[in-house]
Amino acid sequence: MKIVIAIDGYSGTGKSSTAKQVAKRLGYTYIDSGAMYRAVTYFFLVSNVDFKNERIVEENLKSCTITFDGVSVLLNGENVDHEIRTMEVNQHVSEVSALPKVRSKLVEQQRKMGEEKGVVMDGRDIGTIVFPDAELKVFMTADMDIRAERRRMELSKKGIDESAEVIKANLKQRDSIDSTRADSPLKKAVDAKEIDTSHLTLDQQIDKIVIMAESIIYAS
Ligand code: C5P
Repeated sequence: MKIVIAIDGYSGTGKSSTAKQVAKRLGYTYIDSGAMYRAVTYFFLVSNVDFKNERIVEENLKSCTITFDGVSVLLNGENVDHEIRTMEVNQHVSEVSALPKVRSKLVEQQRKMGEEKGVVMDGRDIGTIVFPDAELKVFMTADMDIRAERRRMELSKKGIDESAEVIKANLKQRDSIDSTRADSPLKKAVDAKEIDTSHLTLDQQIDKIVIMAESIIYAS
């Protein structure tokens, strides 16, 4: 039997890297829901969309198509993997993600992607809203300093040099907006297994989730 694995948690806890490798080990499809919110944010920024105007947001969403080619996120058919990871997108993504019109469009698309099961999706509301019936739900946390350092190294590998302080301030701001927004705030689903990744290696995180997943897959 194929299952749905929902991985939620704060930025910089290793969700995406872990989810991608868990999917690979199980032969499942990996979907980075954060990349979808980032792609919409990038589109709004380059199109100078006024996020505060609901009508303009709705209108612009019609000309914004987000797809995956199996590896990368595509915005209107164009690979935007690099463009969606900048500090500018980081600074606006939580504001855009809090807009109900944006969420309803992306959530509908995410649910369709999970219809056939065999998916690992990471995000903020996957276990609570997108797939409340997911067979396995994981909620990842980590110390703030460790999260900021991980994010700094990730950006540095992409050639973006940013101080730990600036990154920490951005993570705190996003945590706050993501956890307090009215529409599907970031919170641990009651039936999610919590993993604190502060002192775990990536391989240990992957192993933990693969073991949990296999025990569900083989028990069914
Ligand atoms: O996971 P990542 O850090 O790339 O997500 C970027 C932002 O997208 C988050 O800070 C959050 O505002 C938003 N997001 C969301 N719901 C999701 C995934 C991401 O609101 N399911």
